[in-house]
Amino acid sequence: MTALPAFRNEPLLELRRAPERARLDDALRALDTRLPLRVPIWIGDERRDGDALRSTDPGTPDRVVATAPIATADDAHAAVAAAQAAFPAWAATPAADRAATLVRGAAWMRERRAELAALCVRECAKPWAEADADVAEAIDFLEYYARGALVLADAPPGLVQVPGERNTLRYAPRGVCAVIAPWNFPLAIPAGMTAAALATGNSVVLKPAEQAPGCGRMVVEALRAGGVPPAALALLPGEGETGAALAAHPGVATIAFTGSGAVGLELLRTAAAKPPQAGVLTRVVAEMGGKNCVLVDADADLDDAVPAIVHSAFAYAGQKCSAAARVLVHEAVADALLERLAGAVAVLPVGQAEAHGTVTGPVVEEAAQARVARYAQLASDTGTIAARRDPPTSPGWFAGPTVATDLPSESPVLSEEIFGPLLAVERVCDLDEACDRVDALPFALTGGLFARNPRTIAQVASRSPVGNLYVNRGITGAMVGRQPFGGNRLSGTGTKAGGPDYLLQFVEPRVMTENT
Ligand code: GLU
Repeated sequence: MTALPAFRNEPLLELRRAPERARLDDALRALDTRLPLRVPIWIGDERRDGDALRSTDPGTPDRVVATAPIATADDAHAAVAAAQAAFPAWAATPAADRAATLVRGAAWMRERRAELAALCVRECAKPWAEADADVAEAIDFLEYYARGALVLADAPPGLVQVPGERNTLRYAPRGVCAVIAPWNFPLAIPAGMTAAALATGNSVVLKPAEQAPGCGRMVVEALRAGGVPPAALALLPGEGETGAALAAHPGVATIAFTGSGAVGLELLRTAAAKPPQAGVLTRVVAEMGGKNCVLVDADADLDDAVPAIVHSAFAYAGQKCSAAARVLVHEAVADALLERLAGAVAVLPVGQAEAHGTVTGPVVEEAAQARVARYAQLASDTGTIAARRDPPTSPGWFAGPTVATDLPSESPVLSEEIFGPLLAVERVCDLDEACDRVDALPFALTGGLFARNPRTIAQVASRSPVGNLYVNRGITGAMVGRQPFGGNRLSGTGTKAGGPDYLLQFVEPRVMTENT
């Protein structure tokens, strides 16, 4: 096996240091002089620019960050045809060489950390700390899957052997992978899905989120700069219809998707509806939404719980599928928790993403602002608002962080994914009741527990359906390799990004039995 140093997570920048902040500010100023970025339909070496699609700065919506054409169904067909043509050569490339391209792609990103973080700030309004973490996670995915693919290629699981018979298992790539990416981790998630597919020998057509084509282009640039052949990785900017046309193509063997439940279910239907003549059972790897609950027991340390809950609910304006949406708190400490949450929300740094220290910036677009406002209104009509921050008066798509309580149990605020800075707090008489409520949800992505009694922790863990349960800490920020990330039930197809099993989604096992 090619020796790569052991995987370690990319260290985050130390943003309390003034020189680091200054470097990022410089990168943002430099980026601003280059806007709007042009994002082409990029198939092999052919590029076609356009401006039917525009991403804008959520904090200053009249600033255009990137322009792109909207790829049509014909473009999707051309991209898949090119990827099909490139597949055999890429699949036949030794795993070590493919891994080396990812590692070089990671190095390309590392050299441009500030520039890439600045783009996340501008295009998706990620506050600096979140933007830096996004770049670091993108690098982690490239490095981690490079190593994982080497293990799959060089050390597949052994089989039982009997005299006179040799059994071997190997993993072959599946073919063309359509990557349909979200805007909320605009570098890390497309980089992760794309790198997983490429590392295992698939060719890729990447359709970035319509809100983040500029970041999508950077992912393709990094991987191509690392040595991925242009024909093996196409970029297909567009809107929902572009993704739908791509997913429906009979030449697509795998769809890797992260995004809303509605789109994920549609992709599963699309995959299942391909005619048998296509000769493919398209696999869908889907990471979808959540309605994530944090349980707080009577003996919880509120000094730990309050900042962790506030950060999990309101960092990046709650726009992570891992974000905290509900707190289920033991009635003995409910009043104390609510009072302290209100105090923390009152001093939460809310503002433009580019202002250092901001925790809650604007939400991504006008429709998101309207959606959050609708749920906040419903919460105030049917419950009690325990805390609310007025959003800044600046022009961006701001939504004021809000904590609601006393909601009726059937409230949509308690069951639907809001994807914004609105947290609901409910009282429970014990943690069994809290677990019942968690179990009643169709989602099972992340969850949290604040408790001291080891028996309580073990009990909640054994009852918890979520993909990622966090005890006595925040519930966002899964680290590649340390917290393989992904949910169950309607939250996804159960795969774990950044974990040892993830690459198995992108390969097909082939067993050979040889009589000797
Ligand atoms: N992996 C991210 C986290 O742990 C969330 C990813 C997402 O929102 O899709 O916070």
